[in-house]
Amino acid sequence: MPVLVMKFGGTSVATLDRIKRAAKRVALEVAKGYDVIVIVSAMSGKTNELVGWVNETSPLYDAREYDAVVSSGENVTAGLMALTLQEMDVPARSWQGWQVPVKTTSAHSSARIEEIPSDNIMAKFGEGMKVAVVAGFQGISPEGRITTLGRGGSDTTAVAFAAAFDAERCDIYTDVDGVYTTDPRIAEQARKLDKISFEEMLELASLGAKVLQTRSVELAMRYKVKLRVLSSFEEPSDTAGTLVCDEEEIMESNVVSGIAYSRDEAKMTLQSVADRPGIAAAIFGPLSDAGVNVDMIIQNIAEEGRTDMTFSCPTDQVMRAEKALNDAKDAGELNFADLIADTNVAKISAVGIGMRSQSGVAAKMFQTLSDEGINIKVIATSEIKISVLVDRKYMELAVQSLHDAFELEKA
Ligand code: ASP
Ligand code: MG
Repeated sequence: MPVLVMKFGGTSVATLDRIKRAAKRVALEVAKGYDVIVIVSAMSGKTNELVGWVNETSPLYDAREYDAVVSSGENVTAGLMALTLQEMDVPARSWQGWQVPVKTTSAHSSARIEEIPSDNIMAKFGEGMKVAVVAGFQGISPEGRITTLGRGGSDTTAVAFAAAFDAERCDIYTDVDGVYTTDPRIAEQARKLDKISFEEMLELASLGAKVLQTRSVELAMRYKVKLRVLSSFEEPSDTAGTLVCDEEEIMESNVVSGIAYSRDEAKMTLQSVADRPGIAAAIFGPLSDAGVNVDMIIQNIAEEGRTDMTFSCPTDQVMRAEKALNDAKDAGELNFADLIADTNVAKISAVGIGMRSQSGVAAKMFQTLSDEGINIKVIATSEIKISVLVDRKYMELAVQSLHDAFELEKA
């Protein structure tokens, strides 16, 4: 029997009624002849509540116990989903991560999946079970402790199962009906995409489009898992949602596929550092050791042997970055006059595989922002992406005007 993976996010299992709706979709796929692996999230809001309880009980918590508590939301929905399916006469049972077992690293609260042996679940499919309901987001470490995969991790559970079981497709059911050209709350012209490539999705996911956990897209790309993002609140149809797939499967696409934005970006400038070999290493080494995710970097032209170095990083890592750089300065490993953090910026990115073969995208982007009177503070590019930092107050305007300029409302 072909295997299908269906993942239901928190809003899709938020109540017993919604679990029933989700179970009906599962039954439809079973009726088509699939053996189905259902991955469930916790009911919406549950994980936040559990995290809150842990923090209140023990601010400097033992990460192993954090995982023990925070993983439990998924156990509840897995059991309830299995019961609901049984009530509908669909042979189903639930599996917690350790029972499969989903083997992970021991990096508690951000563990990575290392292996998912398929024999236990396959044996049950062989005995006539039709649906394996698996608690997402969790696994077991080599030490035998429960682990979790980081927030949003049940997407990654789903893709990992699809890869391990060679599933025909991995359907991610959520509360939006697919991946959009940009956030419809910011630009009402935003259009749902029928297809998007793994690489573009990866850029959009990591740039702040919150539909899929970034790690899940990386995994899907590596194992060529066909991913579909769709809403559990719409009527079932074969063409619903957005297919995230290999570039070759997309016949025609716009040069730019989407505009992403992120509010949580800060710009940091080190003033007057010595312009000498090793200076970049002296700055970015300590930042990397401190776990700061540096994104964009610019080094100014030097004057009299001194230069400014600017970089961007997530807003919530600014304090960590300041400490790392000031410590390096105190230790005499780095010299600078001043360190300035600007947290009033936003990052706007145009993403599209079409950029590889078509020139002029950057020029058009800069012209559009200039026409709106928006000043660009930092620019970074990759093969399929152009990102700029602008004042945060221009974020919406920048997204809307770029969406218009690249005519993303048209297919
Ligand atoms: N329940 C977990 C979270 O809220 C995992 C997930 O839903 O993907 O982060
Ligand atoms: Mg999610």
